[in-house]
Amino acid sequence: MSRFLDPRYAALEEYVPGEQPKEGTFVKLNTNENPYPPSPKVKAALNAAEIDRLNLYPSVTGGELIGKLAKRCRVREENLFLVNGSDDALNFAFMAFGGDGVAFPDVTYGFYKVFADLYGIRKEIVPLREDFTIDPLDYAGLGKMIVIANPNAPTGLALRRSDVERIIASNPDHVVLIDEAYVDFGAESCIPLIWTYPNLLVVQTFSKYRSLAGMRLGFAVGSPELIADLNKLRFSTNPYNLDRLALLAGAAAAEDEDYYLDRKEEIVYTRKKTILRLQELGFTCTNTKTNFIFAETDRMEGEELYKRLKQAGVLVRHFSDPRITNFLRITVGTPEQMETFLAALRRILDQEAEG
Ligand code: PMP
Repeated sequence: MSRFLDPRYAALEEYVPGEQPKEGTFVKLNTNENPYPPSPKVKAALNAAEIDRLNLYPSVTGGELIGKLAKRCRVREENLFLVNGSDDALNFAFMAFGGDGVAFPDVTYGFYKVFADLYGIRKEIVPLREDFTIDPLDYAGLGKMIVIANPNAPTGLALRRSDVERIIASNPDHVVLIDEAYVDFGAESCIPLIWTYPNLLVVQTFSKYRSLAGMRLGFAVGSPELIADLNKLRFSTNPYNLDRLALLAGAAAAEDEDYYLDRKEEIVYTRKKTILRLQELGFTCTNTKTNFIFAETDRMEGEELYKRLKQAGVLVRHFSDPRITNFLRITVGTPEQMETFLAALRRILDQEAEG
């Protein structure tokens, strides 16, 4: 730390992203990337002529992307806020709406705590139930902003839309942010509720279902007033938060639902098969609605298993939080990647059993 850093940030504990080793060195199942490439239409859109146009600034209103996305989400352009990855939307939302404090579950996406601390927002940490589910009643009328990942990460568990609605309806004077990073892999989106609840902000990403984690593209959906507030902050920090190539890639991806639906079917099928195999090996898995599996076994501690898998060339995610320290979060990759993972796991557990 230099002596120039504002003392307000001295104690800030920054977010630690999943390990990003040199490409090709590991079977990488640790950051919930989609194992399949983006739609071929994305490749076609990012052509040499567009690269020649990079001397020009990008659109600040979302170019072709915003209209196409509005159509896909069945909302109006004024309901959409486009961002540089959904973390960018979370950042602006905490900045804009966290004044009275923020509540979120004890086990959830680690960035919420960091944004709250960055902006000096008071945190109310609400424990999940014993089985890691969210009790909507815990969030009734809390008098502060509420942030819920649905499905939640890293548990993978989803609330029904009707349960989320109870939370939104009981907090009419504060923003309820529903982070739907993984919603397309099997949960119900709350976007249709924006017409009823002006305090609802839904955040989604192109990083997971649309295979564009490397592009940095996300969006928020809400009432025109909420979106205007977010834009006020965007135009006060970084109006050109999306580059020309990201806008083009996003527009192409938003138009190829058939491609993405097929890839999703493959991921959901691989998820199901992998969970069955894990159960045969003595693991318990949550009822995940995402592109990752959350699993534990009493045959070996989570951290040890994580380390041995890493030695075997397979990277998964382990968290030190005591409530989930025995669990591994395993991204659903291709069938071949999951075979490699399962074979390594079997070898490790067999060696352990032999002592
Ligand atoms: N929300 C959740 C729950 C996540 O797990 C992640 C990242 N994995 C994000 C938001 C941010 O994703 P991105 O910035 O790539 O859109």
